[in-house]
Amino acid sequence: MTELDGKRFFITGSAAGIGRGIAELAISRGARVVISDIDADAAERTAHDIGAAGVANCDVTDEASVVEAIAAAEGLLGGIDVLVNNAGIEVAAPLAEQSTESFDRIFAVNVRGPFVATKAAVPALKRSGGNIVNIASIAGTGGSPLLGSYCATKAALIQLTRVAAVELRASGIRVNAVCPGFADTTMVDRLRPEFEAATAVPFGDLVAAQQGRLGTAKDIAEVACFLASDRASWVTGSHYVLDGGLTASLI
Ligand code: NAP
Repeated sequence: MTELDGKRFFITGSAAGIGRGIAELAISRGARVVISDIDADAAERTAHDIGAAGVANCDVTDEASVVEAIAAAEGLLGGIDVLVNNAGIEVAAPLAEQSTESFDRIFAVNVRGPFVATKAAVPALKRSGGNIVNIASIAGTGGSPLLGSYCATKAALIQLTRVAAVELRASGIRVNAVCPGFADTTMVDRLRPEFEAATAVPFGDLVAAQQGRLGTAKDIAEVACFLASDRASWVTGSHYVLDGGLTASLI
């Protein structure tokens, strides 16, 4: 018997990166996982490669598609025990130079998306006594130049986590968040040149000095899978920082 035997996961944005890492680790620990992404071809490939139970795609900015995908996942799995709100995007721009359209877009994906998916999944999670893991960021706990709107979305997601945990406690649904530092995914590949241009410091040096090394999807999946498991049965309303000490350091 492994830790996640019989647990049924629905993970947004899980064709790649951290979402895929969570899916892989959960499956290796006995879970059945439905992959969901905005990129349907990548979702199919990932589901095939990692042995997922199925695919139910959605764009988290499209409420109807989220409701439909969660219903499809419940049908495929016979229920849902774990919703992972992982889909997220970044914008690298100083606040005063960012367009209002791109500000609205990042809130639509990173905050409205988890809000809509949470609402859609709560009936299924009430039936299963399940839980929610939100993939926030250390950007939600402090400010970073170039990432102003991203920081604001992740702070909002931490607050949604807290309030949902309190409101859903009586229903037996736990809600937690994970706050990674920089991790080795295509999101960071996109950020690397922007940070180098802004700081004139090689990104590798910045990461080595601040957090030792880049995180991996597996580093984050370990904590997400713990939070999703019954071992975390008294953990709710929490946000777990995984950043190699970045936010602990004053220098
Ligand atoms: P990633 O490599 O860009 O992967 C994100 C996945 O989500 C991609 O498959 C992407 O598809 C998909 N996606 C994007 N917009 C979507 C939408 N509207 N609906 C459904 N799926 C969508 O990113 P990641 O680094 O794995 O990030 C995953 C989560 O971790 C995000 O919430 C991010 O903010 C958070 N996080 C990441 C880091 C980091 O350093 N990487 C650190 C802290 C927190 P496309 O590729 O087609 O857009």
